[in-house]
Amino acid sequence: MAGRRMSRSSTVVAIDGPAGSGKSSVARAVARELGFRFLDTGAAYRAIAWLVLERGGSTDDEPTVIAALEGLDVDVTVDAAGQRVTIAGHDVTEPIRTERISAAVSGVARVQAVRVAVNERFRAIIRDAEPGIVAEGRDITTVVAPDADVWVLLTADEAVRIRRRFGDVGGDHQQVGASLTARDAADSTVSDFMTAADGVTVVDSTDLTFEETVEAIVRLVTEESHD
Ligand code: C5P
Repeated sequence: MAGRRMSRSSTVVAIDGPAGSGKSSVARAVARELGFRFLDTGAAYRAIAWLVLERGGSTDDEPTVIAALEGLDVDVTVDAAGQRVTIAGHDVTEPIRTERISAAVSGVARVQAVRVAVNERFRAIIRDAEPGIVAEGRDITTVVAPDADVWVLLTADEAVRIRRRFGDVGGDHQQVGASLTARDAADSTVSDFMTAADGVTVVDSTDLTFEETVEAIVRLVTEESHD
């Protein structure tokens, strides 16, 4: 379903969804297929969580998170080679993917001052993206880019999402499941990414292969550009 296109020459594809829905890899593949940029917004929240933990703090403590935001130098760059994330001069692209960060990141996401700061950066990236961008997260269709051309809610049954996440990070299956469920519950108090707002197309990847999921979204973009 089409989003609300504003006066802009580039195409913006907004994808939201819960943890383990495959948003990141699907969005990256969609972007590659269309020759678009790709923005994984969760990486910025993860980078701030990394900095808080690196300083020995806890993300459950709002003043500590806000202190990390002061003079914050988080840079999310997107180019043809992919997305790199640096914070305070450290390239944290890989370290922010660990379960330790996943378990801590919701504390960062619930701080409104963080959301305001990162959203400003995301909007600038989206505005400058040519010929288009695929942005994914929890509030892209609702807050970051409500004027996107294509809105998608990417979902999958929880058991499937846990299995996929376990495939990515390994470790203890039960623990990975508990962590994913807890993160979705915490994140749901901040953004509603479990139900599709008006005009948002639900792509349920439970029974789809990776390629089929990518194709379903590419098709939505192609249809939109022919409207
Ligand atoms: O997508 P990913 O799992 O990397 O996101 C990490 C965390 O960042 C989420 O669990 C959520 O707390 C936060 N997030 C958010 N809003 C977004 C993207 C991510 O609150 N748009």
